Amino acid sequence: MIVRQSCAAEGCGGIAVWNSAHCAAHLPDAAAYLADLKARLAGGSSFEAVHLSGIALEGFDLSGKEFVCSDWSGASLTGCAFTGVKFNLVFLDRGRLARCRFEGAKVKWSVFAETEITGCEFINTDVFRCNLNAARIANTPFRNATLYSTRFIGAHFQAVEFENCNLLRSHFEMADLSGARFSNSNTEEAFFDRERIEE
Ligand SMILES: [Zn+2]
Repeated sequence: MIVRQSCAAEGCGGIAVWNSAHCAAHLPDAAAYLADLKARLAGGSSFEAVHLSGIALEGFDLSGKEFVCSDWSGASLTGCAFTGVKFNLVFLDRGRLARCRFEGAKVKWSVFAETEITGCEFINTDVFRCNLNAARIANTPFRNATLYSTRFIGAHFQAVEFENCNLLRSHFEMADLSGARFSNSNTEEAFFDRERIEE
């Protein structure tokens, strides 16, 4: 279960970010908050309920960290390192990932629906039972990646190569695949046909 707190600003329906009474838009001192956030994240390895909805992070090194049951919905992450990171039930839907590296990451049960993913790398990465529905993915290679049972339904791909990927039970129905290329990957075990209703 994900527990969230509302922003303390009057009339705001936003979600308070981690260790703050305010949402990302109402932080009294955003620069101080980001500096404190960087120090807190550097000081630990496993985190639960780290809500960063709507936050903008640039150049954070989150390599090897583990995040569980966290809401990063609408966050914008640029040039961040997620090498070897573990995401379990992380919500990063309607967000933005630019130039982020996910080598060796294990991403499970997480949601990137409608997120814009540009210039990132998913190499030797497990993206397991995740939801990237309607994601817009560009210039982002998936190489030696396990995408078991992950949904790319209605996603849009531009210059995206799936190379040596495990696509068992992955879903691409209604996706725009004109900019996607598959090589040495088991496409026959993925689902592309929207008329096919078996799981
Ligand atoms: Zn607010």
